[in-house]
This record gives sequence, structure tokens and C-alpha cells, in this order.
Amino acid sequence: MGAERAEVYGSRENYGLVLCRCCNEIIDTIPTNGIKKLYSLCDSDRCRTLDRNQYDLGEKPA
Ligand SMILES: [Zn+2]
Repeated sequence: MGAERAEVYGSRENYGLVLCRCCNEIIDTIPTNGIKKLYSLCDSDRCRTLDRNQYDLGEKPA
């Protein structure tokens, strides 16, 4: 059955999402074992400023 080979190589759904922790935009996708979510910051000055402000205030994002 050719289906087994297709599963091995058809791993498009097994990827990690890199999300902006500020605006939740998908920044990038990376190949991983299984679906994972990683949080980073996008290139937006607004997000970087907001993130820095949150950090300075010591507030944890919901
Ligand atoms: Zn952002």
C-alpha cells in the first residue's frame, strides 16, 4: 500500500508555529516532530514596544 510512504513524507502538518506573543501573527513555521507553538516577537515596532512595556511593568500576559 502506497499510503504508508505518503504518511512518512507527507508531514506538512507536523510543523512548529512561531507566533508573535504580542499580536499572535504567525511569524514562521519550522519543521518539528509534531505540532508545537513557539512564541517570539514579529518585526513590528509596535509589538516590540508593547512587549517591552509589559516586561517593565512585570505583568504576565494572559
Ligand atoms: Zn507582533
